[in-house]
Formats: sequence, C-alpha cells, structure tokens
Amino acid sequence: MEGLLELVYPPACVACDEVLPGAGFFCEECEALVLETPSPHCRTCSEPGAFPSARCPRCESRPPPFTLAYAPLEHDGAVAKAIHRFKYEQRPDLARPLASLLATMAKAYFRDVPGALVPLPLHTGRFRERGYDQATLLGVELGAVLKRPVHDAWLERRRATERQVGLSEDARDANVRGAFWASPDVKGQEVVLVDDVYTTGSTAAEATRTLKAAGATRVFIVTLARARRELL
Ligand SMILES: [Zn+2]
Ligand SMILES: [Zn+2]
Repeated sequence: MEGLLELVYPPACVACDEVLPGAGFFCEECEALVLETPSPHCRTCSEPGAFPSARCPRCESRPPPFTLAYAPLEHDGAVAKAIHRFKYEQRPDLARPLASLLATMAKAYFRDVPGALVPLPLHTGRFRERGYDQATLLGVELGAVLKRPVHDAWLERRRATERQVGLSEDARDANVRGAFWASPDVKGQEVVLVDDVYTTGSTAAEATRTLKAAGATRVFIVTLARARRELL
C-alpha cells in the first residue's frame, strides 16, 4: 500500500515541490538551508543561548505561564519557505509532511512531554479568508503520527487580533489579551498546544493563561519553527 501511494504521490520537497528520490522532507538544495534550533537554549522558551540560570533574561524577568515551549527548527531558509506555502499559498496538503517533520525532529520532546494535543486556533474571520486553519490541520496530522488525542474544541479564538508582526512586546500582549476561550473539559488535563511558528510567545502565553484558568494543570507548547529574535 505504502509503495502504491508513493507511486501516486511521490514524496516532494516541502519547500519547492521537487520530487524526492525516496522518503524525506527536503530536496538536497533546500536541506542545506534548514537550520535546527541550536543548543544550548533556554529551558523554558528554547531561546538559543547559554544562560547562567539556564533561563533566558526574558523568561527570568517575566516567567511565562507555560512549562516549556519548544521548536526544533529555526524559522528561516527552506523552513520559512515551506511554512509560508502552507499558510499563505493555499497548500493545506503540506500539513501531513510538516507534521511528520515536526514529530521526527522533536522526538525527544514528545517522549518527555505528556498531554493531549490542542491546536492554537485561528479566528473564524481569518479562517474564512484562508479556507483552512493551518494549526488545526497540523495538530490533527501530528495526532495521527504520534497516536495522541487531538482536542480542537478545547480552545477557541473568540476575538480577531491584529497581526503581531512589528508590534512591541507590550502591544503584542495587549493585542491577544482575552482573545481565547477554553472549554471546561480541560479541567485537570495536561495540554500540548500546537502551532506552526513561535515568535515572542505572547499568543502562546495568553492561550496558556486561558487554558489554566479553565483548570488545565500544565501547558506545553510545540511549534515547527521558532522566529529568530533578531529578525522580529
Ligand atoms: Zn527543495
Ligand atoms: Zn526563555
């Protein structure tokens, strides 16, 4: 069956669609432009760097409400290209290979981190614009790969928010405040929030506060990529 599927849908590079000789995610040229999140990094938000307390200055001064946010890849080069195609170029079909890529690259994280998967949802307005919610697609495919439950009804975005790009940190926090609603079903549960890119963490932090206010015990964040701080 697998062989037959490969004949019909041969594996292709997630960044440029070049057909691959076998199973894989990137063609050779794009692979050269894939950057993994360097180690060491902050033990709370995975910001690259060697910090004396193992926590970056930002997590030291404002401890985030989540337990751990992790992304295996940097949002740059071929990874940024693949995510752009997935989000803005009508390529919902990339959800499956990108979820496999995330599961493969973050194997150790998923071994250590418990909890059901909850996609970080888009607001319905943006959903209508795009026709699909990339975090939900990614979360559902990730659940299938990892054989973990996915609860996309546990968290809803009730208010549209401005795009976070170009906003200051305080403006980002204010922008997302009160944007989410969490189901009472999260009470007593551990949750892994799934999204495509982690930027400053404002959205993830607000979603975490909402889940915790509804009774979630611990919240972890996983994203495919992490925006580089100097590019924000
Ligand atoms: Zn490629
Ligand atoms: Zn940090």
